[in-house]
Amino acid sequence: MTLLLSLVSRCARASGSLLIAALAVASVPVAFFVYSAFRTSLEYCGFSIVRSLLILSVISIFTLPGAFIAIEVIGQLRWVRDEWVPFMRSRNALCVGCSYPVDALRVESATCPECGESNGAWIGVVPSNSKWVKARRKRWVFLSVLLSLGISAIGGFAGEANVLIDEARFRHEVEVFHASSDARMYARSRAWPNETGSLVYLRGRGIHATD
Ligand SMILES: [Zn+2]
Repeated sequence: MTLLLSLVSRCARASGSLLIAALAVASVPVAFFVYSAFRTSLEYCGFSIVRSLLILSVISIFTLPGAFIAIEVIGQLRWVRDEWVPFMRSRNALCVGCSYPVDALRVESATCPECGESNGAWIGVVPSNSKWVKARRKRWVFLSVLLSLGISAIGGFAGEANVLIDEARFRHEVEVFHASSDARMYARSRAWPNETGSLVYLRGRGIHATD
């Protein structure tokens, strides 16, 4: 029992961090691809802060549910670690902080000599999940939005950088074309993963993008 509760407590802590890491690893590429697709479909060249923010707000809607679920699960794991495990330890006559046998403590004091936990404060405390969740929900919602915006911003930044580098390369190609050819038009597909869109140069009318 002692070992099992320590294991549960540690797993609850570790899986919270793992979940955030897994979500970030899985969501940043999604944000990158969704940003790139929107960016290409809007058919414009060069950086536009207004359009970038517009696309970011759209992809945040995609990442928000995932972020909310992750934060909610972490909330539950914390509840297991901070309330359920201490409750089970207390019920099994173990120190709530470190599983030291409580029977030995009663002789001296309610404070654990191993970890300093005040076990007396836990006597009669029953874990209440609904109360706990309600009290923290506001903070979880805030954290979910923050996480969602962070993931969208990282993926979006990478998507925008990828497009801008390709457009700079195209402008250089146009300069070379302008100097070496009399043709009216030079065009090619955008770079990966935006090959469905094209960059077009028309003599006298400049560069524009098509979907
Ligand atoms: Zn202890």
